[in-house]
Amino acid sequence: MHELAHLHFADAETSYADARYVLFGVPYDGTTSFRPGARFGPRAIREASFNFESYDPSTGLDLYEIPFTDLGDLGVLKVPEDLVGQVADVTGEIVGDGKVPVMLGGEHTATIGAVSAMKPDVYVVCDAHLDLRDELDGTPYSHGCVTRRILDLGVDDVVIIGARSGDREQFEIAEERTRLYTADAVRERGIGAVLAEILKEIRRQTIYLSIDADAIDCCLTPGLGTPEPFGLTPLDVREVVRTLGPHAAGFDYMEVAPFDAGQTAMVAAQVVREFIARHRIAAR
Ligand code: MN
Ligand code: MN
Repeated sequence: MHELAHLHFADAETSYADARYVLFGVPYDGTTSFRPGARFGPRAIREASFNFESYDPSTGLDLYEIPFTDLGDLGVLKVPEDLVGQVADVTGEIVGDGKVPVMLGGEHTATIGAVSAMKPDVYVVCDAHLDLRDELDGTPYSHGCVTRRILDLGVDDVVIIGARSGDREQFEIAEERTRLYTADAVRERGIGAVLAEILKEIRRQTIYLSIDADAIDCCLTPGLGTPEPFGLTPLDVREVVRTLGPHAAGFDYMEVAPFDAGQTAMVAAQVVREFIARHRIAAR
């Protein structure tokens, strides 16, 4: 059978029943405040994934040997609150079947749904933005409110890595209620030292790991709805995933708006592969 389009992630050849990792896309950008396009992120990440060799030399694993599947994209609802509910339902099913959800975005709003279904002990996010607004443009389910909603869900250990944008009130909330490692702090201390500190406190707790693509400096990966310079590097984000990924019960890579030369989706696809391979090898 000829393959006519890359509608799934490369090497995601396992049936749902046999899969340990379950990818799904959320092609949504309904609350965009600056530049739209994140709805095309999941497709761009999947297409980018076909660029890579199946073999992952850093773990010695072949991706096609890892049992993972790709459900395709959600038929997303327009209202952000409904979208969050959809994502919660899908994530809940995947987790209920004893599998690890891997979400491709799409706007960061969807992460609220995934986290609400999983109720992790710790929420770790790489993001240029604090996302601690109570509401934005009339909705509490905006991409600018993600971390605030997750605090509201009762996830009270929130770790933010790479932030460099938010208003005064959000920074005050971050100081009080989260463990904040700004992009400047990561640059000063090094990502290794920051991750060692985070890891020490995580131990056996369940974590949800979310990557907002704009955590990375927009000069490096410009396919972003809300670009910010002076951020993390792709290597920093890869290190976060290598170190914390094996401890994560759920993972997402969000906010890829692929109107650049392809580098934002390329980094995303490789980091998703890193997550799957590192999680797999650690579980052995
Ligand atoms: Mn975000
Ligand atoms: Mn962001």
